[in-house]
Amino acid sequence: MKLFDVYPLFDIEPVRARGCFIYDKNGTEYLDFYGGHAVISIGHCHPHYVQKIAGQLQKIGFYSNSIQNRLQEELAEKLGKLSQLPDYQLFLCNSGAEANEDALKLASFKTGKTKVIAFRKGFHGRTSAAVNVTDNPAIQAPINKNFPVELHILNEIQTVQKSLEKGDTCAVIIEGIQGIGGIRVPKPSFLKALSSLCGKYEVPLILDEVQSGYGRSGKFFAFQYADIQPDIITMAKGMGNGFPIGGLLIHPKFESKFGMLGHTFGGNHLACAAGIAVLDILERENLIDKAAETGVYFRERLQQLPQVREVRGKGLMLGVAFDFPISPLRKALIFEEKVFTGSSSEPNVLRLLPPLNIGKKEVDFFMKKLQKVLANSFANHRSSESP
Ligand code: PLP
Repeated sequence: MKLFDVYPLFDIEPVRARGCFIYDKNGTEYLDFYGGHAVISIGHCHPHYVQKIAGQLQKIGFYSNSIQNRLQEELAEKLGKLSQLPDYQLFLCNSGAEANEDALKLASFKTGKTKVIAFRKGFHGRTSAAVNVTDNPAIQAPINKNFPVELHILNEIQTVQKSLEKGDTCAVIIEGIQGIGGIRVPKPSFLKALSSLCGKYEVPLILDEVQSGYGRSGKFFAFQYADIQPDIITMAKGMGNGFPIGGLLIHPKFESKFGMLGHTFGGNHLACAAGIAVLDILERENLIDKAAETGVYFRERLQQLPQVREVRGKGLMLGVAFDFPISPLRKALIFEEKVFTGSSSEPNVLRLLPPLNIGKKEVDFFMKKLQKVLANSFANHRSSESP
């Protein structure tokens, strides 16, 4: 049987990984500064994580959501404490798109409305409602376009205000930091204004923290730089460090009803064990503060490169803008220097999303490799803003 061919693949086959390193079938070591799309938060194969999942599998791996599962409560308790949002309610699902799908549904249940305000360059996943609020017509099938969506410009509040005034909005959805869109950070003043307008017009504000959450930005959630209280927060990627798990944090003003949301696999025993292990390590190894600290150092080093036009982002969610398309640079990093990095929908932006447990040593190692590739192949490219 052939695989349905939707992913362009690099011809590399990882078979083992540890910390921020991946090893292919020939034993070649790769530095992972992409975390498999921002997924690896605590590092690959952390011993505590491996032991927690393996230990759980020997007890019970799965049963349905019709029985008591103490692990879900343990996860909720730890998450409430570490995120400093103990009053929110937790609902567990399996992926980022599913979390956004459920969040949009909750907002629509509450308001009885359908129009959603989202933002240009935003990405929220590929399920039906999530892809409809994503700024990419190429991945929307006709069946997905079944409710009205307005795409507004990030950091411009006036048009959003005008739209909210009409009283027909079901939800506003925004990424804590736009990831695939090229690492664009909403201004704290913009998020504050958005939150206050959503409060005024009683429109649920959904913060998509699927990529920017779980410590990646140097705070548990990126929106916490703006000190707001969203109505719903969605999470996935870093939450399970590779084990499929997603979730929603739901403000106490939302009342649950039996059957309102549900998934067969959401919150299963193995996923909870993985999620608990991730929170244990984030806390024990102080990885959120570490991400903030390492991020400052990393940004300073990147800004010193003459080819770099701009460094965007927070913590260890960084976008490096060059004056040239980064595709050849990214390929040279992988094949010549054995380093994984990411791209974005902006052709000139290199996306860096390393595991949160890296330090200065790993940043220096990466910078040496990046500088080597730039010197070899891109020496003539100088940022227009450089002297
Ligand atoms: N939201 C954001 C901000 C994302 O970056 C992604 C995935 O890249 C998603 C949602 C969708 O997550 P998933 O691929 O787990 O469905």
